Amino acid sequence: MLTSAFPSRLKWPVILDYGIACATPALAVVLDVSFSRLWGIDPPASVFLCGILIVAWVSGPGPALLATALTVLAFDYFLMQPIYSFSLEFKEFPRLALLTIVALFMVSLSAAQRRATASLRRARDEQREMVQELRKLNEALRVENTERRRADEKMRRTEQEFRLIADNIPVLASCRPDGTVDFRNKTWRDYSGLSRDNLEGRRWGSSTHPDDLPLVEREWRSHIATGEPFELEQRVRRADGEYRWHWVRRVPLHDDSGNVIKWYGVGFDIEDRRLAEEAQRRSEAALCEARRELQLTIDSIPVMVSTFDPDGTRSFVNQQWQNYTGHTQQEATGKGLDTSLYYHPDDVQRFDNAWRIAQAKGETLSVDVRTRRADGTYRWYTMRRAPLRDERGNIVKWYSVGIDVDDQKVAENALQRSEAYMVEAQKLNLTGSMAWDLANGDHFWSDGTYRIMGFDRSAKPSMDLIMQRIHPDDRAQLQHEVDRAAQGAQIHDFEQRLLMPDGQIKHLCVRAHRVKYVSGKEEIVGALMDITESRKSQAALDAAQTALAHACRVATLGEISASIAHEVNQPLAAIVANGQACLRFLRRETPDLNKLRGAIEWIVKDGKRADEVIRRVRGLLKKADTQKALFDVNDIVCEVTALLQRELSAQHVTLRLELASAMPLIVGDRVQLQQVIINLVVNGVDAIQAVMDRSHELLIRSYEDETHQIVVAVKDSGVGIPAETANRLFDAFFSTKPSGLGIGLSICRSIIEDHGGRLWATNNTGEPGATFQFALPSHQEQAPLAGTSKLDH
Ligand code: ADP
Repeated sequence: MLTSAFPSRLKWPVILDYGIACATPALAVVLDVSFSRLWGIDPPASVFLCGILIVAWVSGPGPALLATALTVLAFDYFLMQPIYSFSLEFKEFPRLALLTIVALFMVSLSAAQRRATASLRRARDEQREMVQELRKLNEALRVENTERRRADEKMRRTEQEFRLIADNIPVLASCRPDGTVDFRNKTWRDYSGLSRDNLEGRRWGSSTHPDDLPLVEREWRSHIATGEPFELEQRVRRADGEYRWHWVRRVPLHDDSGNVIKWYGVGFDIEDRRLAEEAQRRSEAALCEARRELQLTIDSIPVMVSTFDPDGTRSFVNQQWQNYTGHTQQEATGKGLDTSLYYHPDDVQRFDNAWRIAQAKGETLSVDVRTRRADGTYRWYTMRRAPLRDERGNIVKWYSVGIDVDDQKVAENALQRSEAYMVEAQKLNLTGSMAWDLANGDHFWSDGTYRIMGFDRSAKPSMDLIMQRIHPDDRAQLQHEVDRAAQGAQIHDFEQRLLMPDGQIKHLCVRAHRVKYVSGKEEIVGALMDITESRKSQAALDAAQTALAHACRVATLGEISASIAHEVNQPLAAIVANGQACLRFLRRETPDLNKLRGAIEWIVKDGKRADEVIRRVRGLLKKADTQKALFDVNDIVCEVTALLQRELSAQHVTLRLELASAMPLIVGDRVQLQQVIINLVVNGVDAIQAVMDRSHELLIRSYEDETHQIVVAVKDSGVGIPAETANRLFDAFFSTKPSGLGIGLSICRSIIEDHGGRLWATNNTGEPGATFQFALPSHQEQAPLAGTSKLDH
């Protein structure tokens, strides 16, 4: 097939086609002329036809027609008679016509074939294009399918994600245009504890806190009407019934015509935020309050507070500062302020120097300075200024406080003065003070203590130092006091003797007590007094008192001498009588020995009686030191009344004794207590003597009272005690008697008090006369006395 030989026609210029159309007849002429001349063959027309066919095949119908025309002309000119002329013989016409027709037929065939080929080619091209289009379409379809699958997958995932999100975002709900719920997500259902069915068709108020409901309803209604989104904070009930704050935003979804077709709502649990906000509000309020209080405190504290810039410029003063100085904040702050405005002229220089040094060294300043008050007076203040540094150590501020120490200064001066006075006083009254820190064993001695102990001020006080000075016989007692202190004893009150290096003995009275300070520290603080001189005086006084008591006893015995003489005389007379009787018995021829023995026994008894009386009188007259012993007070009463019996009879006084039996014993000096009872009985007899109109009676009672004290009462029927003298009865030298000394009762009282008892007098109730009585502790009640070991049991 030609078409298949030239599947695609080469593209060359049209002129080339026509050139081929021209050349082809020429070539056919050459070939035909050659055939006829060389080989004598009649020129075949087929060569020309072949040429036309080639042109028609190669160059198309147009050049083929041209070649046909040229062929006809050339055939006519070169090959038909007459040769080389275009004129034609008649016989040649058919051939030429046939040639022309065949040529034209071939051209038309060729043209038809070309058209068919061209249309086939086009059809093929179109088919190819269509196939390609189809392929492309298929490819596109495949791609589209893939895309669609991907999109589907994506959409499925998106939907899943959306579901997941929708179910997991804090709270999501959708409502119909009227606000009724048509969907609530899982979070919301879990939160509310309501199922999907329960939620369907509900309105906004179902889980809203009753207090928030009016607001929610109002908002809903107004926004359903306007179709505008809205947001609010409301409390929403949780499944457990607790309400929690939520921030809720509701947004409408409009259709194309602008109508709301749905409402979407999201809610966030803001309970924690609300709590945090509330806490923050509270803490801000507290901070604000704290600031206000701090300001108030700074302004109210009774100290002057101020601040300074690093260059020393005062930048702030508190209210107290302003009140005290009378200068306002504006006046007091700023550069170039004159310190002489605030401080005493004598202190300004010192203060300025100290401030300059503190600034230069960056160290805290602490200076006592007299500061001027608004009224012009000066008070002592301790000024402290401390620097505040930044992290690089640079001073960024100075803080200053001024504390009023005026009273303290005055007190310090007073203390110094009083210390000086105390030193002098201790010097004068021979006293000293001391303190003993129980924790660390430190001792403090005043100058007076050093002086009394006989140590130099340089000596460090200690327990060993004290022990050096204590009399060897008293060291055990001091050790006892030290042990008591260690066991927590509160009070120490004892006497000690010091043996000085020169052999002199000093008597000390020590009184101390335990002091507990706020810090918890405990000290034994006390004072000691050198009582050597007063001891000597006391001894002299005791001697004088003993002498006086003796004199008093002697005087009293003088008063009752008749009675005593009688007491002695009686047994003596009996002895004489019995002696005489003995002599008579002896003079008989046969002496009656039994009678003789009986008389002699009486003599011995009466002798003993007389001896007893004389012994007692001697005892009363003897100047003896006090000797305490244990005895029954009734015995003393009986002894005394035996001595006074005669006196009482002589004065016509009837004596009655009411002595309690089985009373506890007492500890005392027998002679002194006899003296007391004698005095009271003699005074009673004197008081009775002045009474004429009633019987003269004296009663001596002894008994143990409810406090277990042994009481001896001498009750008389005498004149009694006038009210005006009642207070003075026991005063020394008070007497209402013409020849009275007025020392009897005073000595009696001192004796009884020395025995730890008391002596008192009262008028008798409901009857005349007075009662003088004393009470003494029984030996069970009495604390062991010094020297008890010497008691004569
Ligand atoms: P004198 O007996 O030397 O006067 P006293 O000291 O013994 O000294 O007594 C002081 C005074 O107390 C007596 O002068 C007397 O006025 C008063 N007095 C003492 N005993 C009694 C008594 N039993 N009744 C009334 N007054 C008394």
